Amino acid sequence: MKKDFYEILSVSKSSTTEEIKKAYRKKAIQYHPDKNPGDAEAEENFKTAAEAYEVLGDADKRARYDRMGHAAFDGAGGFGGGSQHMNMDDIFSQFGDIFGSAFGGGFGGGFNGGGQRRVKGSNLRIKVKLTLEEIANGVEKKVKVKRKVQAAGATFRTCATCNGQGQVMRVSNTILGRMQTAATCPTCQGSGQILDKKPEGSDAFGMLVDEDTVSIKIPAGVVDGMQLKVSGKGNEAPGSNSIPGDLIVAIEEIEHEFLKREGENLHYDLYVSFPEAALGVSKEIDTVSGKVRIKLDEGIQSGKILRLKGKGIPSINSYGNGDLLVHVNVWTPKTLNKEQKNFFESMISEENFIPKPEKSDKSFFEKVKDMFS
Ligand SMILES: [Zn+2]
Repeated sequence: MKKDFYEILSVSKSSTTEEIKKAYRKKAIQYHPDKNPGDAEAEENFKTAAEAYEVLGDADKRARYDRMGHAAFDGAGGFGGGSQHMNMDDIFSQFGDIFGSAFGGGFGGGFNGGGQRRVKGSNLRIKVKLTLEEIANGVEKKVKVKRKVQAAGATFRTCATCNGQGQVMRVSNTILGRMQTAATCPTCQGSGQILDKKPEGSDAFGMLVDEDTVSIKIPAGVVDGMQLKVSGKGNEAPGSNSIPGDLIVAIEEIEHEFLKREGENLHYDLYVSFPEAALGVSKEIDTVSGKVRIKLDEGIQSGKILRLKGKGIPSINSYGNGDLLVHVNVWTPKTLNKEQKNFFESMISEENFIPKPEKSDKSFFEKVKDMFS
């Protein structure tokens, strides 16, 4: 009889995903082969915990398991079916999101019971500059990337120094007794394999630098500083069973000439003249989806904010768009000629030109409050 996955991780049926993740992290550290060399029971516990997490850590699989128990995965092939276990590669590849990247590469090599170590190439980082329009609509960018790739014709054989493990064990005597530590194999630099035949133009590891064009799909609503990952488009690593690193794309937002971004909302400063404000006017303004004409009523006040619903930036995490807030500013001429001066002087004592703010003309502070509510 197979043990219950919840029992294995010591969590309850009502535990949240975060609690399950935490519980698994604890078990994985407790039973990690590096900490328990030669302990078959620890290794078994390590594998079972990984198997339990593979199911309970995934909402769909967990729901299936809750309905049908272990039967949900019988005959599914791969891990989890019957008594079949996950292999060590699968387990270590889970670690990236459990422990963060600091653990990803470091684990794995020290373990002697599983298959050969799988080396991952290093990540590459690039910056992509996007206009506000591209951010608002989403965009596909083609970028040229210089990546390390295995040269055509490069063949590899298992490294004799480390027997393909990529790591060698060093035993040292300390005041606490004999300590066993794993170190990167000096012969193969951790890849577990060494170059058998060196193609022309490649380096000592059978690698060369190649320029590749990578297409990156950027979803709408990204934010300056955000990083996207394109799996497998980083540097390749030597060896026949290595996997390439990832391409990390950092988003940089190009400042828009007229639109200011604030989260998902955009702001636009619109300037109108005295006569336009007094008579009413129709104005063309910039939005991320092209120009739009808006109508200002006669007698519009400086400081009025017009909200164009949905004309902002789409939310990257949920549905819906931000708004475009048009700030109306009445432009005062800095100098007047004689004729203009005469006109305004004749108006200055006009009853109609004396400010009489109404209750409905909200103060600046009230408007700011409204904007954020
Ligand atoms: Zn080696």
